[in-house]
Amino acid sequence: MSERPALDRCPGLLRPFIAEDGALVRLRMPGGRLATSVLREVVEIAGANGAPVVQLTSRGNLQVRALPDPLSLALIEAVEATGLLPSASHERVRNILAAPLARDLDDLVDSFDAALMAEPRLASLPGRFLFAFSDASGSVLSERWDVAYQRHSRKSGTLLVGDGGAPVKPEDAVTAMIEVALRFVEFAPEGAWNVRDLPNPSDLLPHRAPHDEGAPRRDPRDGATRRPVVARPLAPGVVGDAVVAGVPLGMLTLEHVEALAHVADEVVITPWRSVVVRGGAPRVESLRSAGLVTEPEGPWARLSACVGAPSCRRTTVPTLDLARSAAETVVSQRLTATQDVHVVGCERRCGTGISNRVLVAPPTVDDVVSALTTPATAAIRGEQ
Ligand code: SF4
Repeated sequence: MSERPALDRCPGLLRPFIAEDGALVRLRMPGGRLATSVLREVVEIAGANGAPVVQLTSRGNLQVRALPDPLSLALIEAVEATGLLPSASHERVRNILAAPLARDLDDLVDSFDAALMAEPRLASLPGRFLFAFSDASGSVLSERWDVAYQRHSRKSGTLLVGDGGAPVKPEDAVTAMIEVALRFVEFAPEGAWNVRDLPNPSDLLPHRAPHDEGAPRRDPRDGATRRPVVARPLAPGVVGDAVVAGVPLGMLTLEHVEALAHVADEVVITPWRSVVVRGGAPRVESLRSAGLVTEPEGPWARLSACVGAPSCRRTTVPTLDLARSAAETVVSQRLTATQDVHVVGCERRCGTGISNRVLVAPPTVDDVVSALTTPATAAIRGEQ
């Protein structure tokens, strides 16, 4: 088992993390769905307390940093009034991803969230424990989930834990996922944050023989082996009637939010620093005009960074400035960004996605530009 700190530091509103630049809070929306009116309230609350932007995290959460330490009661009450804190006890365990384009998963996700909050024993899940719901497309199964449910059709689906899976009907999915989470809470040794920390994660599956790792998943309809379909992260652009709007460096501004609110009453925050606007395709130009990224090409669609210096005390590398300068260089020199790159200031690699090239403390803007524009086989300074 990997060595892990004894304290679960995942922040929430009621237990902020104190960073170099002040208090940091994280707000969770199961499945990422959020009313644009609420999003506007959050950005306004952040701005009124000294934080000019709201960040999107790699787990599809909202994050506000550089807040006063300690948080004022007025700030806490203002966020609570938005409805984003339905359970004080379960605040930090409501980490639930869902395929952003799959509207037919919304009810399932809502039912699961309600069941999660109704189970007192699950308040002690680690804050890093991640649930995921997908449809047949396999969207979000690319992420580092602990327990996932892939609904193949109205009548069939697969419960996924570690490398194992079991057929579970959609109407039984909520109960089955709650049971897996309860088993984790009950049996995981101290210091285990994720199912990956267990010797045999598949043992958490219902009615599973111990150490039956890697057994084939059987489709209940035909008995055939069914492996989970896993889709790549959604790239910015128009998908059917929806828009996947990239948020440059994951920094959501009031201007972005105003544009989103003009197009839709609700958006879906993705784990890829983007916002899905269902039904937003006819208004894609207004989103682009507000600075959101609506094409898959270009550096702003491919570049991300941790917060770095001066906000984080673990580095002296100004990662965000490096990334911004690199993106501007790529645009001004008419270069072609072909690689997904994440710039971090230290080996903690915060916010690293599954398919990113990770640049650890790149010394220069040219290094970031090179990583963005050079095929993956070439050696890049600082790349790990
Ligand atoms: S990767 Fe390192 S420098 Fe960047 S935010 Fe995380 S701890 Fe700070």
